[in-house]
Amino acid sequence: MNTHFSSRVVLPALLLCLAVPAHAEWIRRVTDGIMGTRITVELWADDKDKADRAIDAVLDEMRHIDESMSTYKPTSEVSQVNAHAAAGPMPITKELFDLLTTAKEYSVITDGAFDITYASVGYLYDFRKHVRPDEGQISKALPAVDYHHVVLDAKKQTVQFSQQGVRIDLGGIAKGYSVDRGIDVLKSLGFTRAYVSAGGDSRIIGDRFGKPWMVGIRDPRKGAGEVITRIPLVDAAISTSGDYERFFEENGVRYHHIIDPHTGHSASKVRSATIIGPYATRTDGLSKTAFVLGPEKAMEIYNRLDDIDAINVKLDGTVIYSKGLEQAH
Ligand code: ADP
Ligand code: MG
Repeated sequence: MNTHFSSRVVLPALLLCLAVPAHAEWIRRVTDGIMGTRITVELWADDKDKADRAIDAVLDEMRHIDESMSTYKPTSEVSQVNAHAAAGPMPITKELFDLLTTAKEYSVITDGAFDITYASVGYLYDFRKHVRPDEGQISKALPAVDYHHVVLDAKKQTVQFSQQGVRIDLGGIAKGYSVDRGIDVLKSLGFTRAYVSAGGDSRIIGDRFGKPWMVGIRDPRKGAGEVITRIPLVDAAISTSGDYERFFEENGVRYHHIIDPHTGHSASKVRSATIIGPYATRTDGLSKTAFVLGPEKAMEIYNRLDDIDAINVKLDGTVIYSKGLEQAH
């Protein structure tokens, strides 16, 4: 009797739900192959088609950034700069000009640890093929590593390299930048709750209805699913650099993809560095610092920046936190 009664009550309500053409839900899409990494977009949408179109627009934007900034593509604008900018001032797009300007600002903030001219030596490494330069090759290429060699003229919107042999690579900032551009696309389409990530760089807008997003920080020496901690985030960006991302080992030495601009060798002073801040371009640009300068010196820099928090996993596996996070632990 009871069952009968309740089903009569519930049924009209159920029908009402079905009659509503669309209902809001979290929609998530994972895509591989743009910028050589995995892109995840998740958003809260009341219309599945609108969400799909928005995610397509985010991915289109990221493909555009890949086309113009990848050094793996000889036709990209950055490859063209590498080929011609030593010969004289070269006009470039506003987008690239602005990102090169930002990259130089991060070089200043990080005492030169972040330096897109690392590529003047970096191109001699191929981590997939276990190729690395010998000492002779490194010392020959090293003078070209210095962000001061990248001369920008804001009035003419040109770039010039002040000497031969200089190469730039935006691999240390382009993913974070593409995440910010992806978030801009979603915001312009009216989305207020979303998550966009490209490899180790992520940004969140809004919350999960009164709850924060929980972002896990991977344990650098364990499997991808194992985390050292989870950080609650609302309206924030987070980037992690790890020595486990792209590396090979030879005679017990780990060669990996973050290069110390002063030595031309792999920068190995931490196992991983996670940066939390307002934009993914900024958190990406800052996450290389601890590898080059070491955890203590890098933490001094992070602590000086009001909008930045950081978590460094040291070589012995211990974890240190910036001031803003220390209270929480
Ligand atoms: P991901 O590519 O997964 O986002 P990171 O954010 O840690 O990884 O960036 C690593 C990349 O940064 C390298 O593959 C290289 O392209 C670039 N890079 C390496 N060393 C430096 C450096 N000293 N300064 C700026 N960029 C660097
Ligand atoms: Mg990154």
